[in-house]
Order: sequence, then C-alpha cells, then structure tokens
Amino acid sequence: MKKRVQEEKKKGRSISFVPTMGAIHEGHLSLVKRAKSLADIVVASVFVNPAQFSPTEDFENYPRNRSLDIEKFEKEGVDLLFFPPADQLYPKGFSTWIVPEGPARRFEGVARPSHFQGVCTIVAKLFAIVKADYAVFGWKDAQQVVVVKKMAEDLNIPIKIVASPILRDSDGLALSSRNVYLSPEERKRALAFPMALQKIAKMVELGVEERMKSLIKEGKDEIIRAGLEIEYLEGVSLLDLTQVEKVGRMTGIIGAVRSGKVRLLDAIIWE
Ligand code: AMP
Repeated sequence: MKKRVQEEKKKGRSISFVPTMGAIHEGHLSLVKRAKSLADIVVASVFVNPAQFSPTEDFENYPRNRSLDIEKFEKEGVDLLFFPPADQLYPKGFSTWIVPEGPARRFEGVARPSHFQGVCTIVAKLFAIVKADYAVFGWKDAQQVVVVKKMAEDLNIPIKIVASPILRDSDGLALSSRNVYLSPEERKRALAFPMALQKIAKMVELGVEERMKSLIKEGKDEIIRAGLEIEYLEGVSLLDLTQVEKVGRMTGIIGAVRSGKVRLLDAIIWE
C-alpha cells in the first residue's frame, strides 16, 4: 500500500482515504462518494480493529464479508483497497498507544473506556501508511469525528478530516453494520430513536425551540415511551463535545440508545 500511494503522489495525485471495519453498506459508500469529490485517488481500508472492542463486545462475531466488500467498493469506484492483516498492524511486541483525553473521555469513552485509545492508535497508523490528503469519517459516529480531528491537530498529522452526513435506511434507522443484530421486533422499537431525533430537527427547523434542554427532554420522553433504554442524549459542541445550551453552528445532539442488547448510535448535526 505504501508503495502504491507513493507512486500516485509522485504523479501529483491527491489522495482521500475512507477507513472502515467492513460489512460495507450505503453509509460507507456515501463516504466513498464524498472522498471521490475531494481527491484524485480514493483509498478505502477494511480492518476490524481488535483494540477498539472491549472484552465483552462483539469482536469475534462482528460481521465480516470480504468478497462482498470488495465488490461494493469496486462498484463505487474505489481506486485502492487495503485489507491489512492484524499481525502486520499489531506485530508481536507492539507497545505504543495513543491515549486521547478531553472529548474522548465522555459518552462512548465512559461506556467503553479503551475504545478511543484503540480508534486513535489504528487511525494514526493507517494515516501513516496511506499518507492521504483527506480522510472521510461519518457523522454517524460524531464523537469519533471530534476525537480524530483533535488527534490530527494535537499530533500535527498533515491530513484534513472531513465529516459526511448520516445515511439512513428507508425506515429512518441510521445504517450500521451492527443493525443485523436487531430482531425484527427490536428493530421496530428502535425506530423511535431516529423518529425522536427527526422530531427535534423539525422543531428547530420550524423555529419552535432552540434550547437544548427542552429539545432533549422532548426526545428522551419519546424514546422512553417506546421502551428503549437511553445511555445518553446530549446537546454538544461539535468542536470539543462540551455541553451547549442552544442549537447553533457546529452543534449537535448525540445519543446512544439500547434496543434489547443492541447499542444504537445516532445524532443530529447542525454544521
Ligand atoms: P465502521 O465500519 O462502522 O467503523 O464505519 C466506518 C466509517 O463509516 C465511520 O467513519 C463511520 O462513521 C461511517 N459510517 C458508518 N455508518 C454510517 C452511516 N449510516 N452514515 C454515514 N457514515 C457512516
């Protein structure tokens, strides 16, 4: 991969990069579309990163389908595909980690304490290999966008992090590789989460309400009424993930909600 990237760079071509964990769906492909609009060459990677799963999470069972992933990426026009083997990225004796603080310590960082250490370490490694000009991430994982942007800034990594909108299924549920874990009943119930977010977005759009406290209360009531369990739902700055009082530029509402055993992440983004 390093050599291929070097060749392209020598030819003066710009590179955009889409890192994923595979089980490719339209959400991932929307990142590829964005990546294509940014640079001459699109690189996509698939690596199910063990370091970002906690021992109780689904690393072993995480959906994997390499041949289908290749087919989907190729159809979307990805130029270079990267499936690094785990022992190349984490060889015996691997002992250096990036431990992000600040925005990484809230929300997902509370529920999954070493998650962002795993994410930042692998993303920094992939950035060092691919040496792209742009990397595209989804707002679906809004905290990840903020944490990765901060890491690139703090560590002077010369790459521009671009965030792309959340893609949804026809019923409104944010596309996710983990949606396959939902039973039909759990999926039906889960829809209350995006519906609540949609209702909030509408209230803001119509100018009915802009105070986060009221919007969040409205959303939480709907979600709880549907029998879902809320881990968090909060109005935050998309620059540093601190709490904000009102909707404004670069703010969002981010949440994690459980339907049965499945954790769903979703957000409303006001860029
Ligand atoms: P994953 O394979 O789940 O690690 O996701 C790889 C990238 O795709 C991350 O930047 C995610 O935020 C992004 N992504 C996943 N689902 C969606 C979606 N429904 N809409 C937009 N981006 C997404």
